[in-house]
Amino acid sequence: MARRGSVGTPYLIAGGLALALLVVAKRGAITKVTGTAAVAWRGGKPIGTIILKHIGNNQYLEASRAAAFLAMQAAAAKDGVTLVANSGFRGMAEQTVLYAQYVARAFTAPVVAKPGYSRHQVGEAVDIHIPPAGTAPDDPRRIMSKEFQWLSANAEKYGFKNDLKRTREAWHFSADGS
Ligand SMILES: [Zn+2]
Repeated sequence: MARRGSVGTPYLIAGGLALALLVVAKRGAITKVTGTAAVAWRGGKPIGTIILKHIGNNQYLEASRAAAFLAMQAAAAKDGVTLVANSGFRGMAEQTVLYAQYVARAFTAPVVAKPGYSRHQVGEAVDIHIPPAGTAPDDPRRIMSKEFQWLSANAEKYGFKNDLKRTREAWHFSADGS
């Protein structure tokens, strides 16, 4: 027993170290493949770099918010409700284009925040597909949709809130609804 132990222990230690290194290497690789570093903006100023994670439909959120969204999406799926992200994190270039389009259509809904001021630029806000598409942002049919109804009952458990009175957008969810 003692002899087996004395021979086996170094191998066990070496094996453990190799496994630990593999885990670290894999984590690094995952971060590089699915996580993209991006500059976040708040109050018109860059506030640092965040790591983005894919949430489907070619959309991204800050990694911890992405994990919360994916958990919420899985819970909704169990209830037969499909949640699709139409807009997650926006870089400065994207927000600038969206704002220019908003100005060009004479500031009509949906409202777009000035570049540097959108919750989408912090990677914490997400626009979720709420049908029917093409209707007003707060159309009663959107409010009655199973997607909106499910989110109204469950989204806050995952840290997502819709403040319809404030934004008048059924699809916009963020930490405080703004
Ligand atoms: Zn939004």
